[in-house]
Amino acid sequence: DLLPMVRPRTVLLAAPRSFCAGVERAIEAVERALGQWGAPLYVRKQIVHNTHVVADLEARGAVFVEDLEEVPDGARVIFSAHGVSPAVHAEAGRRGLRVIDATCPLVTKVHTEARRFAGRGDTVVLIGHDGHEEVEGTMGEAPEHTVLVESPDDVADLEVPDPERVSYLTQTTLAVDETNAVIQALRERFPALRGPGSDDICYATTNRQDALRDIAEESDLVLVVGSGNSSNSVRLMELADRCGTPAYLVDTIGDIRPEWLLDAGVVGLTAGASAPPRLVEDVIAALGGLGPITVTEREAARETLQFQLPPAVR
Ligand code: SF4
Repeated sequence: DLLPMVRPRTVLLAAPRSFCAGVERAIEAVERALGQWGAPLYVRKQIVHNTHVVADLEARGAVFVEDLEEVPDGARVIFSAHGVSPAVHAEAGRRGLRVIDATCPLVTKVHTEARRFAGRGDTVVLIGHDGHEEVEGTMGEAPEHTVLVESPDDVADLEVPDPERVSYLTQTTLAVDETNAVIQALRERFPALRGPGSDDICYATTNRQDALRDIAEESDLVLVVGSGNSSNSVRLMELADRCGTPAYLVDTIGDIRPEWLLDAGVVGLTAGASAPPRLVEDVIAALGGLGPITVTEREAARETLQFQLPPAVR
């Protein structure tokens, strides 16, 4: 019975939201490769962490694999936006695979820093989430010299060969406030700590968090469109929660539970960097089915960045 949920509502739409430049580039790389060479086209890991994007490309002939072992020798394979370790590049080379590397240039930048910091003799402390593909790739640049921390608590347990030679790097999709707390803890333990020239948390992650912070407190409920394995989407949900507003991750509109909406006159809406804009429209349409809605967009920043496509599909 949906009747109790029917009421007028305001939707506060965060901007920017949804696709970032790195995700657009990675998806376009797969689309162009399919156009140029047809199916099957192998893609190592989910090209971006979104179930809809993956299902759409699969329907058009992309074959997603977890491991290069599943790719026949000599075949064409795309590496996902999250990046790969040098060991994966080496394996592809040995196997004669034709690689199209869709690693986001902002992830590549972190890899370059990891090599540089490790090369000057530092222990590299990577702030990130264990098990995430981006973290696996970045750690792989200098596995002997890199340690992973997730929280200020982890910093207390760190053991490094030389406390004077410590650098930090971060995953690109972390929460800015939480990461600052970890960096602060590192600085206290290692006063000589050095970091990247500019933040590794990417512009898209930062902008989506800023935009959500602007609307979260005014909202009775926040919906974040994104898949469960999308790091930046999960960080958005947690951020709204820290602002004191109940927040839910919505992969498809079927995930929206009517009871969430019962007392929600103002619904904050955003989407992670890997979530297609179409899904946001679907959510707005679904909310419109439960009474009249007024959509107000709040723009925290304007994004114009675009990346060149990988050379093979340019
Ligand atoms: Fe690149 Fe940032 Fe988008 Fe990740 S979220 S693909 S690092 S722009």
